Amino acid sequence: MPFAYDDQNIFAKILRGEIPNDTVLETEHTLAFNDIQPQAPVHVLIIPKGAYVSHDHFATEASDAEIVDFTRATAEVCRKTGVTLGEGGEGFRSIANAGAHGVQEVPHYHLHILGGRHMGRMLSKD
Ligand code: AMP
Repeated sequence: MPFAYDDQNIFAKILRGEIPNDTVLETEHTLAFNDIQPQAPVHVLIIPKGAYVSHDHFATEASDAEIVDFTRATAEVCRKTGVTLGEGGEGFRSIANAGAHGVQEVPHYHLHILGGRHMGRMLSKD
């Protein structure tokens, strides 16, 4: 079954300029902005500008240019937010939820970058 994208999701509205966002970085194919309900001192969402639902959708159908742009943008966000290892940062966690089992709320692919504190164990048991 092909990946189905709902263009009424809130990140699509942000990309169309219908809803404001607190931008951290914008590149040709990628937008990064602060999460509206941060779960750590650093909590940035990085999204491709293209209409992709999930990481596997993006990895399957995005162009090489989009994938490179997105990947480089993640590094730039880490630098900008001070979490980069080797540059004085203490590291971060990156999370990409997908679908029902991944407990994804917004069906536009996004990578969470969380840092600025110790993030604890990776998963809870529930
Ligand atoms: P997920 O559960 O992985 O789909 O995460 C969705 C994330 O989007 C949550 O952390 C929300 O706090 C965040 N979020 C929802 N609406 C907005 C918004 N308008 N601006 C910034 N972040 C948002």
